[in-house]
Amino acid sequence: MLRYRRIFGEWMLAVGIILILTGCGSGKAEQYGSVDTAMGTVVSQTLYVCGDREEAESEIAAVMELLTRLERQELSWRIQDSEVARINALSQKEAEAIQGQENAMREGMVVPISPVMQQTLQQIWQVSADSGGALDVTLGRLSRLWNLDALSAQATEISVPTQEQIRTALEDAGYERARISQETLELPPGMQLDLGAVGKGIACDRVGEYLRSRPQITGAVVAVGGSVITYGQKPDGSPWKVAITHPRKEGSYLGILSLTGEHYVSTSGDYERYVMVDGVRYHHIFDPSTGAPAHSGLCSVTIVCDSGLLADALSTACFVLGPQQGLALARSYGAQALLVEEDGTVHMTDDMKEIFIAQ
Ligand code: ADP
Ligand code: MG
Repeated sequence: MLRYRRIFGEWMLAVGIILILTGCGSGKAEQYGSVDTAMGTVVSQTLYVCGDREEAESEIAAVMELLTRLERQELSWRIQDSEVARINALSQKEAEAIQGQENAMREGMVVPISPVMQQTLQQIWQVSADSGGALDVTLGRLSRLWNLDALSAQATEISVPTQEQIRTALEDAGYERARISQETLELPPGMQLDLGAVGKGIACDRVGEYLRSRPQITGAVVAVGGSVITYGQKPDGSPWKVAITHPRKEGSYLGILSLTGEHYVSTSGDYERYVMVDGVRYHHIFDPSTGAPAHSGLCSVTIVCDSGLLADALSTACFVLGPQQGLALARSYGAQALLVEEDGTVHMTDDMKEIFIAQ
């Protein structure tokens, strides 16, 4: 009996190892890919699936569906029924109601939020506090004022807001003026949220949750714009490769990240949505202290860590902070960071040097 148990046990162990090695009951996971758009950006998926093309395509469609749902129901400030749009509409309505009342108390108003939104905002507020306000998702009015949608490398002009317009837009901003409590957000009337700096990272977190629930998916790389999740492993065991765009040489790469297992990568740069006017680069990452595009000396920041939201939040915050403070912030989160200065100087945390291969 004892001998039987031992043999049976060894046999089970061997089977276990085979299952782990291939990730499939039998055969090898096959690679499937797709490029599509969601959340206003390009989504590229590479999935390793134990199954036929039809099954892989339904997994790819499920990922696209969850991204579209995330945008429609939770994050978009443009889509009326999303939670962020609902918060903004209530805040706007209240601001209009008290407008003109000279002595109106501009006290905080309270809006209900979902438990998921509460968790998300709490994490964002922590990064805002730790970055001295470099990340501030209450800049909604400011980002609309700059009309970010019109920014693109092909654009040739921009209508720069006046100092007065900027000052007014900033009056309605300030993360420290909003409070998140049990299922509510207290905010000054008129404040508008814009989760653009973290949306794609949150999307990668949701993709990660989905992938973990699908045992037939043994490995994946999914990129939502500049935010990427790597997950699981390739059948041949080789690492995932994630290329980092060169911020000043269009079409080339600065280098490649070599990653094993689950990681979240996010890059923030001034080279995708921008316009050059009279030698000034107007881009889409603002310094909340000035209300103008940030000029901290950096042109690209890449963060690698174990959370999509944090990677995205930190890449934006570090971009605003500049090389020294940016590196310190990333280190304080135990995140790997690569920061590129406009003159090409590259700064990396020590653990980033271990995974970065320069081109
Ligand atoms: P991308 O969206 O291109 O990946 P980021 O993650 O850096 O780039 O986010 C930039 C977006 O975040 C802008 O389009 C704007 O909506 C918003 N934003 C800009 N500056 C800030 C800031 N300092 N804090 C929070 N959000 C910001
Ligand atoms: Mg970001």
